[in-house]
Amino acid sequence: MIDTEKYRQQLEARLKELEDRLIHIEEELDETPDPDFAERSVQHEDDEVLEQLGNDGLVESRKINAALERIKDGSFGYCLKCDEPILPERLDIVPYAILCRNCARKLESSNS
Ligand SMILES: [Zn+2]
Repeated sequence: MIDTEKYRQQLEARLKELEDRLIHIEEELDETPDPDFAERSVQHEDDEVLEQLGNDGLVESRKINAALERIKDGSFGYCLKCDEPILPERLDIVPYAILCRNCARKLESSNS
């Protein structure tokens, strides 16, 4: 039996963390650019880094939301491909994992 409550708490805590970070990134990006040109190009690079961080955060928060949905409908912790339970050791590291280790590995080797 999978302890979904434990993972739900983990996922929600992580989601909160990501949201806080995304809000902070939005604020940074909204700051008015420095009028000095040299400063501005540095600022621009910073913005790109921030946007990348924001994108990563969005991707992760989408995965977390999907995992929370699966907790609700009872499919959490089962591999989407083969329906086998995902090992708790794997869920402890990646609570929003949707594939068991075998399927994830197969996917990786077919991608490379
Ligand atoms: Zn599988």
